[in-house]
Amino acid sequence: MNTENIKLAILGSTGSVGKQSVEVALNLGARVELLMAHSNIDELERQARLLKPKICVITDENRANELRLRLNDTSINVYSGEKSAIEAICECDADVGVNAVSGFAGLYPALALAKSGKRIAMSNKEAIVVAYKFLLDEIRKGGSELIPVDSEHSAIFQCLQGRVGNNIKKIILTSSGGPFRGKTRNELLKITASDALSHPTWKMGAKITIDSASLMNKGFEVIEAVRLFGVSPDQVQVVVHPQSIMHSAVEYIDNSVIAQMGAPDMRTCIQYAITYPQRREPLAKALDFASIGALTFENPDMNTFSLLSLAFYAIEEDGILPSALNASDEVAVDAFLKGKIGFVDVFDIVSKVVYGFENIKNPSLEDIYNADREARIKTLEQINSFLK
Ligand code: NDP
Ligand code: MG
Repeated sequence: MNTENIKLAILGSTGSVGKQSVEVALNLGARVELLMAHSNIDELERQARLLKPKICVITDENRANELRLRLNDTSINVYSGEKSAIEAICECDADVGVNAVSGFAGLYPALALAKSGKRIAMSNKEAIVVAYKFLLDEIRKGGSELIPVDSEHSAIFQCLQGRVGNNIKKIILTSSGGPFRGKTRNELLKITASDALSHPTWKMGAKITIDSASLMNKGFEVIEAVRLFGVSPDQVQVVVHPQSIMHSAVEYIDNSVIAQMGAPDMRTCIQYAITYPQRREPLAKALDFASIGALTFENPDMNTFSLLSLAFYAIEEDGILPSALNASDEVAVDAFLKGKIGFVDVFDIVSKVVYGFENIKNPSLEDIYNADREARIKTLEQINSFLK
C-alpha cells in the first residue's frame, strides 16, 4: 500500500483511540473519507470540520438530525443507524478502517470493513474475543486483512514478522499490573470508581481503564492473543511489567525471545496498523533507556485479580463463554462506574455468571448474540440481588 495517499475511515472517532487516530491521520497527511461515532455530535462536528470527510455516521438516530443541521453548510453526508452505517462503511472509498468502537458494537463495523475488502486496523477487542471466527470468515471472503492495534497484540504481530513455520513456544503478554498492583482483596474492597479510573501508564476510555485495574482487560487480551495468533491458552503467559516499555514478546522453540519496545503511546500502534509493513515519522517520543533505568517483571496475582483466571477458564472452555464473560463484565463495570456496586463485586458477580453459564461448543453467530443477551440479564439479576 502506498502510505503517501492513504484513505481512512475512523470508526469510534470521538473516543480515546478514535481521537488519537485523528492525530495519526493528520500526521500521515491521510485523507479521511468517513468518521463514525455513537452520540457525541460536538466532537464529531469538530472533527468533520477539520478533516472534511465525505461521510459522517452517527449511530444514535436521535442525534442525527441535529448533526445534519449543524453540517448543513458543508457537503458532508450524514448517515444514522446501524443499517446505514454498514452501507456507508462498505461503500466509502477508504483503504483502511480504524475500528476504535468500544464494546461488542465493534463487531458489525468490523464485518462491514471485512466484507468490503478494506484493511481493518483493529483496536476493538470485544469483537475478537466474542466472534473472531465469524470475522475471520468475512476477512477471507472479502480479501481483507486485520492488523492489531491493541499495543500488546501490535507488539506480538511485530515480533512475528519474518517467522517461518509454526515455531512459537509461547507468547509473553505484558501487563502494567494496573493501579492496584500488590493490593490484597481486603484493600480492594475500599476502591472507588475515581481510584480505578487513574491508570499509571496508559490514558484510555473509562470501561477499559476499569478493566485494566481489575486485570479483566488482560484476560480479554489473553483471549485476543489466542484468537489472533492461533496459540493455545497455555501458550500465553501474562507477565507484569509496570514500566509498560516492553509491549509483549514471543518466545520461540529455541528459547530466543523477541520483544517489541517503545514509549507507551497508542498512536504508534494505530499508525503501524495503518501503514504496515511500512513505518512512518512518529508522534511518540523515542525511548531513553538510561533515564528509564530498569525494566522489572513479576507474576500477576491471579488469586486476588480473579477475573484474569476467569478469562483463562473462558477461553479453555471457549464456545459461548467468552461472549458471556464480555457481556457480564460490561454490565458489571457500568454498575460500578455508576456507584451501584463495589470494585470487588465486579469480580464476584462476573465470576458467578460465567462459572454458572451453560456452554454451547461450536456456536453459531446467533448463539453468540443470545449468550450476550442472556449474560447481561443474569448480571443485572446479580446486581439487583446485591442491591437488596
Ligand atoms: P471510548 O469509550 O473512549 O470510545 C468509544 C468510541 O466508540 C466513541 O467514539 C463512541 O462514540 C463509539 N461508540 C460507542 N458505542 C458505539 C456504538 N454502539 N456504535 C458506534 N460507535 C460507538 O473507548 P476507547 O477508545 O478507550 O476504546 C475503543 C476500543 O479500543 C475498545 O474496544 C477498547 O477495548 C480498545 N482499546 C483501547 C485502548 C485505549 O488506549 N483506549 C487500548 C487498546 C484497545 P461516542 O463518543 O459518540 O459515544
Ligand atoms: Mg492492551
